[in-house]
Amino acid sequence: MSEARAAVVHPGSGTFTWEDVRLEEPRHDEVLVRVVGAGICHTDLASRDEHLHTPLPAVLGHEGSGVVEAVGEGVTHVSTGDKVLLSFSSCGRCRSCRHGHPAYCVDFLSLNFDGKRPDGTTPIASASGEVIGGRFFGQSSFGTYCVAHARSVVPVEAADEDELAMLAPVGCGIQTGVGAVLKELDPGSGDSVAIFGAGAVGLSGVMGAALTSAKNVIAIDIVPSRLKLARELGATHVINGKEEGTLARLDQITQGRGLTHALESSGVPALLRQAIDSLAVGEGMVAVVGAPPMGTDGTFDVNFLLNGRTIRGVTEGDSDVFDFVPELVGLYRDGRLPFDKMVRFYEPDQINEAATDAAEGRVLKPVLRF
Ligand code: NAD
Repeated sequence: MSEARAAVVHPGSGTFTWEDVRLEEPRHDEVLVRVVGAGICHTDLASRDEHLHTPLPAVLGHEGSGVVEAVGEGVTHVSTGDKVLLSFSSCGRCRSCRHGHPAYCVDFLSLNFDGKRPDGTTPIASASGEVIGGRFFGQSSFGTYCVAHARSVVPVEAADEDELAMLAPVGCGIQTGVGAVLKELDPGSGDSVAIFGAGAVGLSGVMGAALTSAKNVIAIDIVPSRLKLARELGATHVINGKEEGTLARLDQITQGRGLTHALESSGVPALLRQAIDSLAVGEGMVAVVGAPPMGTDGTFDVNFLLNGRTIRGVTEGDSDVFDFVPELVGLYRDGRLPFDKMVRFYEPDQINEAATDAAEGRVLKPVLRF
């Protein structure tokens, strides 16, 4: 048992509270990590607000980076002192995992959102012994230390701990946007890609699209500063949905052909509808990554879909973390994926301020620097 400080969310509180906690020693398939950086994602805020599946109290945080302090006896791919990024968890045994698609693990929801190990236990307890969810996305990285599931722990190269902290969001937001575009949509020469929602995930999609030979890369949002950054990151066009008619502008940009590819990252059903309605006949595909509160319905005209258009739900960019996370780190270090332009560092005790800044559009990717 070791001691740590962690940002605990209690039921109905809607806030993070730093508390002393006790961490179990890592079990055979677990890794004790000293957290260096932890990105805050919209999914943390939705889970804090109890809009998703995670039971509270829990320690959230699923974009961690850090240094390995200890490993369970069954862990062979990392050892003490290694620099690592933390990503989602998966079973490693189901058909999807065996075929290189762990983001579509049959147990994805329980392994990542329950905040508990498969046997129902959790590695975190309060100082007084209260059980606290401690395996959010296999890591619960809003703490000075975490006990992560081995399949969430990816060894990476980083020059120092400052760079390691910067890399933290690769484990979710960056890989979700880049992966959805490169792995699921895969646009080619002459194609038109529109990104609905230019948050951290959407702008990662813009950076992914900018790595391809797509002709048009179009970012749609309602926050002017985000659209400005979208231009810097490679968007050829931007649309402010508050000021312009999105469908008419997309029609104009694609010269009536429609979108060959779209990424819906706003989580707003009306934007999903716009994305579907803008797809090209015979080939248009929208990758849906935005996650509204559980139970949210979306609509589309069934007959419109029949003309060879596709709606594809995507988790974590269909990333096989042990390959794709190091690849993204390499792209960043080569200057080809400048996601640092989205990052602002906060002290851990500023977590509630960072979360509010993200929710209110003042920061794209807050990262807690431990
Ligand atoms: P974010 O809040 O930073 O981004 C959402 C963007 O949508 C914002 O820039 C916002 O201004 C924009 N937006 C909202 N309403 C709009 C409107 N009416 N018109 C145009 N733009 C509008 O969030 P994020 O961190 O980028 O995450 C995006 C979504 O992806 C969230 O729902 C998150 O939960 C989800 N997510 C999914 C996965 C996955 O694996 N599928 C992984 C990570 C995040």
